[in-house]
Amino acid sequence: TIGMLALDKKGNISGACTTSGLAYKMKGRVGDSPIIGSGLFIDNEIGGAAATGMGEEVIKTVGSFLIVELMRNGMSPQEACEEAIRRIVSKNPNHVNFQVAYIAINKKGDTGSYCIHPGFKMMQYKSQENKAITTDSYLR
Ligand code: ASP
Repeated sequence: TIGMLALDKKGNISGACTTSGLAYKMKGRVGDSPIIGSGLFIDNEIGGAAATGMGEEVIKTVGSFLIVELMRNGMSPQEACEEAIRRIVSKNPNHVNFQVAYIAINKKGDTGSYCIHPGFKMMQYKSQENKAITTDSYLR
């Protein structure tokens, strides 16, 4: 999955995501990416979020919508991504043998990212500079 979030000069937020789905997926499986609120959600009053990884877990927690709602209630993009990952982990207490990663942005242009297992990077283009940000993870 490639998820993208953008804030333009006028302060408008937009987002997009693509996916190839999962390897060896069942015929007819629908992942999180095409489901608004799961793999991607934008509310131009608040911010946006996008997901990659095990789509079923993202769908069950309506992850991207959850992140935007947490930001609406005062969390930073980083805090909201961390809470959405904790929500998934808490529903899989004995084994988290899959990856989920989130990115988020708010109206101020603050960004956040968080994942379950290490190894996820977010690319950020800001002030004419490209940066690869290593995302913190719930597990080490
Ligand atoms: N989120 C996608 C899915 O579950 C997989 C991916 O991140 O590539 O379909």
